[in-house]
Amino acid sequence: MIKPEVRKDYFKDEYVIIAPNRARRPMEPKSLPTDAISTCHFCPANFKGETIAYQDNGYAGDWEIVSVVNKFSALTLDNHSAYGQAEVIVETRRHGMDINDFSIDHIVRILDAYIDRFMTLRNIDGIKHVVVFKNEGGKAGASLSHTHSQVIALPVLPHKIESEARAYNKYRIEHTTCPYCDIIVAETDKPRVIWEDENVFVLSPYASDAPYGAWLMPKRHIALIADLTKSEKESFAKAMKVVLGTLDKYAIPYNYFIENSVNNEDYHMHIKLAPRPNIWAGLELGTGVIINPITPEFAARLYRGQIKSGVYSRF
Ligand SMILES: [Zn+2]
Ligand SMILES: [Zn+2]
Repeated sequence: MIKPEVRKDYFKDEYVIIAPNRARRPMEPKSLPTDAISTCHFCPANFKGETIAYQDNGYAGDWEIVSVVNKFSALTLDNHSAYGQAEVIVETRRHGMDINDFSIDHIVRILDAYIDRFMTLRNIDGIKHVVVFKNEGGKAGASLSHTHSQVIALPVLPHKIESEARAYNKYRIEHTTCPYCDIIVAETDKPRVIWEDENVFVLSPYASDAPYGAWLMPKRHIALIADLTKSEKESFAKAMKVVLGTLDKYAIPYNYFIENSVNNEDYHMHIKLAPRPNIWAGLELGTGVIINPITPEFAARLYRGQIKSGVYSRF
């Protein structure tokens, strides 16, 4: 039994309590409910007057990936009191698929859709930040089972993003190096490595604030998702299949979001994956101090396929 341990983030003043709880471990589910196709808003047959912002086929013939303006969004570009835009990227025409079921080429095309929407929306006057993210599974906030991602253009720079940028810049000034480049070097060959190839490094971070949390980082120091080469995008797609396929196998709901440079400042872009198998309790809501019942070292072993399936019980 591993004793609980308080851990500090690599470079931010954030703490997490890693408190392994053997009674709560994942197990493969028998089956999952799927929403009906007839009522699915994201099945092409049910599209009604959608405003299409992006199509992967250049608007010629049937699309496979499309971005539509969310007509139920609280933020719109014609309301100065709640200015912004929300879009839903429908990742496939087919209902009931998961992103990890797709081919490498298909996931690369989803990344291309992220890039197009991120770069287009961030250039709109009055937009301060664009967040690209995905919720998968009921507990993580998704209400539909047709696989999709979301892009939201905000009129403000959120505090959490600003504080990450500030901590990044402080580290850069003090060390003259990039914290994420340093993390990749420091964690290489450590037990928290999940997967890597020549382009991408996937890590279960030392002070992970989410059970099974993972960071997907390009090895090259680049600021924006739009800076990824074709080969780097393919590596990201392979890495996503590994980590998201594992979470899918154990029916663990997740969020991931893409962290990009803010205001064209220096940064090391990456994808942060935050599974949400437990509900935040009072300590976390009241103080921001998070208890993570899964050690990052155990999470890395699960992602690497080194934990025998079915041996452990559910959370
Ligand atoms: Zn559907
Ligand atoms: Zn870097």
